[in-house]
Amino acid sequence: MWQMLKQLVTTDTPREVPHRPTQADIPGVAQGPAKQIGPGAAAPAQAPKAETKSEGIRRDTGHGIRQEILDTLGRALCIRVIDSGSCNGCELEINALSNPYYNIEGLGIKLVASPRHADMLLITGPLTVNMRDAVLRAYEAAPHPKLVVAAGACACTGSMFKDSYAVCGPLSKLLPVDVTIPGCPPRPAELLQGILTALQGGRL
Ligand code: SF4
Repeated sequence: MWQMLKQLVTTDTPREVPHRPTQADIPGVAQGPAKQIGPGAAAPAQAPKAETKSEGIRRDTGHGIRQEILDTLGRALCIRVIDSGSCNGCELEINALSNPYYNIEGLGIKLVASPRHADMLLITGPLTVNMRDAVLRAYEAAPHPKLVVAAGACACTGSMFKDSYAVCGPLSKLLPVDVTIPGCPPRPAELLQGILTALQGGRL
């Protein structure tokens, strides 16, 4: 009102004063005094959020995976990812496993920086001649018992690169492969499924 009077005095033309929303205009926002923060402040009352069906299934599955890893190893499953000459498409999907959605660390699966700390080698790429010795050395450095998982079409079969002069794969020509995960690239859920299949194989 005061703003409208001020406009009348200065311009002779009343204009609509923009409405400023208050707490009263926002449905669901509690009315009352400002929030107190810090020690002694009362916790805000929140209605319990109902869990959706898919959230419930994910929680149960996650609990099951975590328990299975603990029952098998008594600790986290440690995986060393090795790129044997991939285009890095497979690595992008493997990296996605660590995002908050797939949350593999929360399931008890860790990607480690050294094969010496690994229970499993997750190998991508068609196995190039230049990477052959490095892959073999990483395999020898991993402690027994160890699992080998070929991730992606290139690691499984060599895919379109198998006849290249620069490729000596597929991986199964060099190492005993426990599980193959096809796909170009495989999706994170498929990678996770392959990792769990290897774990359930009973060699650890
Ligand atoms: S399987 Fe596909 S995404 Fe993975 S390394 Fe080979 S070409 Fe790249």
